[in-house]
Amino acid sequence: MMENEIIEQIIKTAHHLYDRDMVIGKAGNISILDSTGEYIYITASGTNFKELTYDDIIKVKLDDLSYTSTNDLVPSMETSLHVGVYQKRSDVKSVVHVHSPYATGFAFSKKRLCQQEGFGEITGEYIAEVNYYPPGSKKLAEHASDALKNEDAVILKDHGVITVGKDIEEATLLCEYIEEIAKTQYISHVLNL
Ligand SMILES: [Zn+2]
Repeated sequence: MMENEIIEQIIKTAHHLYDRDMVIGKAGNISILDSTGEYIYITASGTNFKELTYDDIIKVKLDDLSYTSTNDLVPSMETSLHVGVYQKRSDVKSVVHVHSPYATGFAFSKKRLCQQEGFGEITGEYIAEVNYYPPGSKKLAEHASDALKNEDAVILKDHGVITVGKDIEEATLLCEYIEEIAKTQYISHVLNL
C-alpha cells in the first residue's frame, strides 16, 4: 500500500467509527504498519475523529519512535502500545483503540464481557482483560501488548477496548463486534434484574 492509501484508510475508519458512536470526545487511536515493517502511521494525539484529515496522521519509526511532523501535532499517547503489538505479533498490520460506550461500560464494571458467537472461534469464557494502568503509560503499553500476543481483542480495565487485525478492516470489525456483544450483554443483564 502507498502512503496516501494507508492514510486514506485511517481517515475513512476514523469517520466510520465516529458515525457508529464508537468514539467519545477525542479519545481513540488507529494505526497501520507499512509494508516495509519499519514505520507505522498513527493518529495524532488529541485528534477529533469526526474531522480527521491528512495532517492528523503521523508516520513513526518502529525501532526508535522518531517522527517528523509538519505541524505541532505529536503521535498518539498510546503509540508505544501500538508499536509493542507490532513487535510482538508479526501477523498484525493494524491496531484500533476506542472508548466505545458499552464495551467501556464493562471495562468500568466488575462484570466480565463473555465471548459470544459471531466472530471467529470461541476460545474461552470471557474476552481477555488487562488491569488498569494509566493511559499512555509504559506499564499499559507493556501489559496490553503482552495480552495481545494471544488475543485479538482486549478490554483495558477502567479505560476502553483495543483490537488488532491482519488489516484495518478486520481490526475495525472486531472493535464493532466487541461493542455489539457488550450492548447485547448489557441488555440481557438489565432484563434479568
Ligand atoms: Zn484510551
